[in-house]
Amino acid sequence: MTAVRKHGFPYQFECQRSGNCCAIPGGFVRTTDAERTAIAKHLGMTESAFQSRYLQPDGVHLKEGLGNRCTFLSDGSLAGCSIYPARPHKCREWPFWPEILTDERLLQLVQRTCPGIEIVPAVPGQEPTN
Ligand code: SF4
Repeated sequence: MTAVRKHGFPYQFECQRSGNCCAIPGGFVRTTDAERTAIAKHLGMTESAFQSRYLQPDGVHLKEGLGNRCTFLSDGSLAGCSIYPARPHKCREWPFWPEILTDERLLQLVQRTCPGIEIVPAVPGQEPTN
């Protein structure tokens, strides 16, 4: 696996399977209608059963387990997402969320949280690759 860069971000990323991004204090995973449908289907559940078991009372955010862990974060020597093929868009985009670029505190939090991030200043005249 090779490190990923995205234009405008001051780092590159290569997942180390820490699971830290799935257990950020104060962080919640928001889901769309389509994502909830996809996750329920992936789990072989009806949408109402999925909602009852895995969503917060607002019907939109995934429940948390102990220690701010996402309900779908699995344990092991390498942490993993137990619904990986159906994980929400927000999870797929980590750590390249547009709001990180306009929020210095969020940028610092992300950099502290993720061992897969390596600070790599943009080189003038050299476009990062996706
Ligand atoms: S759905 Fe999967 S990738 Fe997203 S926070 Fe939960 S465990 Fe992590």
